[in-house]
Amino acid sequence: MVLVIGGGLAGCLSALALRQRGLPVTLLSQAPSWATASQFSYGGVPWWAAPALARAPEIWQALERRHGPLGWQSCKLTLHGGGANPPALAAAGTGVMALLAAAGEGGLELRDDQDQLLGLELPYGRVDSSILAAALPAALERAGVGRRTGSALALESAGGAPWQVRLEGGGALEADTVLLAAGAACAQLWPPLTPELATSWAGVLVLSAEDLAASDLPPGAGAGIVMPLLGQRQALEQQTSSLVEGRAVVDAGLAPWGAAWLLGQISLVNPLGQHDPEPNPAWMEARLRTGLAQVWPQLASLPATYHQVPVSFTASGVPLVGPVADAPGLWVCAGVGAPFAALPPLLETLADQLKAGAGS
Ligand SMILES: Cc1cc2nc3c(=O)[nH]c(=O)nc-3n(C[C@H](O)[C@H](O)[C@H](O)COP(=O)(O)OP(=O)(O)OC[C@H]3O[C@@H](n4cnc5c(N)ncnc54)[C@H](O)[C@@H]3O)c2cc1C
Repeated sequence: MVLVIGGGLAGCLSALALRQRGLPVTLLSQAPSWATASQFSYGGVPWWAAPALARAPEIWQALERRHGPLGWQSCKLTLHGGGANPPALAAAGTGVMALLAAAGEGGLELRDDQDQLLGLELPYGRVDSSILAAALPAALERAGVGRRTGSALALESAGGAPWQVRLEGGGALEADTVLLAAGAACAQLWPPLTPELATSWAGVLVLSAEDLAASDLPPGAGAGIVMPLLGQRQALEQQTSSLVEGRAVVDAGLAPWGAAWLLGQISLVNPLGQHDPEPNPAWMEARLRTGLAQVWPQLASLPATYHQVPVSFTASGVPLVGPVADAPGLWVCAGVGAPFAALPPLLETLADQLKAGAGS
């Protein structure tokens, strides 16, 4: 039996991929009331951004044929300038166009008008994370994934299988193979994964469709996802090893989310290796709204619910996916950048390897 720890995108898609290969799987996930990064994600799928992501749309569609609707949609991406300096925008815009052209999406032209709207309706894909979260429990059940609700406290083994996973509140689960897919909690559960695996905090506003409709919509909002051309989150994550104190950045994005909308994203990154306590939500929300006001003043003060979640990442940008060193039978899937595009293809390989490993 493979025990998958973590009921977010990584854990659920891993469990489905393993079941598809005939392995018995149990998924340990925390109670649904836990807010996760997967739940509040824009779910953007930039399939043209790297060759490794190119198959993501095809795999999401195959997953939907097998498991029913999961929220996949082909859509458009609108990039805005967000007040950044024109030469940096021009360079980044040219880079995006080059990626699109390399992926066979040539013939698009950058527009640079008074709104600083740089690329109109670029091809894109997205997975509506609210639809995905609602659909996964039934999909997992139909696929025959065993479910346990609980929090893993610690992983123990006497130098290899079987692994004992101690649970909060008492009790333990035993498995020959354990796949750690608990997002930011992976490093707590298996400390040798630090400092490579780091955690940031991300906050987002959930806005009702009525409130948004009563306001001036940013161009492109009806067609899919709107994001800054120069997103700051990824750049900040890459600086984590040189940070001397925590730093927050705001990206002005807007994405449909079920019948509502996700607005903005604040990311708080601490110096690498530093403990990442949950930041004060009131401070994070105020900082998010201040950042948004510089780009979309009409949206920044709308009534909305603020949510924040921990997100795992690696400072090197290289995802941690595969067997864990010096821990036979322990595997990890965490710290994946652009996971809604990167995970579907990565997990096919992981599941094949894990099946071969579990059978040997
Ligand atoms: C606002 C926002 C916008 C984003 N936009 C995009 C985007 O456009 N495209 C994209 O690809 N990505 C985006 N992301 C990033 C993406 O959503 C996350 O990186 C991804 O969902 C992480 O998935 P995960 O399964 O690894 O982690 P999580 O979603 O954090 O899931 C971890 C799971 O492990 C469980 N868990 C934790 N500890 C334990 C424990 N001790 N025992 C048992 N279970 C445990 C949690 O309850 C949770 O279910 C965005 C994120 C945010 C917050």
